[in-house]
Amino acid sequence: ANPAENTLSEVLAAYAFAGEVVGAARFGQGHINDTFCVYTQTAEGDCVRYILQRMSAAAFKHPDQLMQNIVGVTDYLRDLIEKDGGDAARETMTVLRTKNGAAYFTDSEGGAWRVYPFVENTLCLQKAETPELFYASAKAFGNFQRMLKDYPADTLFETIEKFHDTENRLANFEKALAADKLGRAKDCAPEIAFVKAHAADCSVALEALRAGRLPLRVTHNDTKLNNILIDKDTGEGICVIDLDTVMPGLSINDFGDSIRFGANHSAEDERDLSKVNFDLPLFDIYTKGFLEGAAGTLTDAEKEYLPWGAKLMTLECGIRFLTDYLEGDTYFKIHRDGQNLDRCRTQFKLVRDMEARWDEMAAVVKKYS
Ligand code: ADP
Ligand code: MG
Ligand code: MG
Repeated sequence: ANPAENTLSEVLAAYAFAGEVVGAARFGQGHINDTFCVYTQTAEGDCVRYILQRMSAAAFKHPDQLMQNIVGVTDYLRDLIEKDGGDAARETMTVLRTKNGAAYFTDSEGGAWRVYPFVENTLCLQKAETPELFYASAKAFGNFQRMLKDYPADTLFETIEKFHDTENRLANFEKALAADKLGRAKDCAPEIAFVKAHAADCSVALEALRAGRLPLRVTHNDTKLNNILIDKDTGEGICVIDLDTVMPGLSINDFGDSIRFGANHSAEDERDLSKVNFDLPLFDIYTKGFLEGAAGTLTDAEKEYLPWGAKLMTLECGIRFLTDYLEGDTYFKIHRDGQNLDRCRTQFKLVRDMEARWDEMAAVVKKYS
């Protein structure tokens, strides 16, 4: 990809900022988009900052659809927050329009860019160093569910097709296994057996959706702590960011993905599986925060399926790592041989732990329901 700096001046000229642009520099630790902070100075001498991003062309083929999703959701949130008497400029992102009134700008090299006012006096943390931070993110993502409960989810574009279609992920695994083009299947017989033993599980949530037991929701699909802005004064998660993967989906999957990566203390590619353990107290605190944030929005069935969300997101992720291992590591970058198989093994270990503690997980959900 071309370095984003090539067209920066052209992009900056497309926007009417509050002040004069005095600089722009790479910002944050996102892995997907090219993110810059734009510094401007107003006539009164105030510094006003913006976040400027070139959307990843590799990850997102349709920036127009993606931006329609973001504009739709953030406009809706702004109205709702204002009606509730909240501070919409801090509690949701706002898309700054170009001078032409467009939601994004396409540069001369085809790069698609967008601008958000910088939400000041906030922290963006990479890792939940404390249970309180994990709780803060849970509450913010639960609150996101609450605020968007009446948004027509089916009007959103699927920015990544079949993202959490676990049945499709299973089918892709089966294709990779049948091809076994690198002869790696012989090295992962226990993991292959694990997938086969869990094939029926891959349909549990989708079946519930098809049967109308679980509702289609607006989902975030990247529910990490670093996609929440935390108020510096209160320590509360006030604004959900990184809305690129907002799509129709299942609330239990947003919940489950947070549990998958947040409710353990090991690296995703840890080779010593004795160190990889599902942490029930962290599951407890996340469940508490998520349900408090959702404040009665989730149906009884969604609550009942929360443990399934955790297990299925972890299983699905493990299946994807295993599929990529069989296909020759073409999707997930590796830094050493066998890394995707190691990643698969940690996920399956977590699935086993969850299965062993299933009743306790259900009891936690019940406690906060
Ligand atoms: P990526 O998809 O690459 O993770 P993000 O949308 O999460 O991109 O943005 C990258 C980083 O930029 C965030 O982690 C955060 O630090 C910062 N950021 C994004 N939007 C804002 C905003 N409106 N206000 C303040 N910081 C922001
Ligand atoms: Mg992000
Ligand atoms: Mg992102």
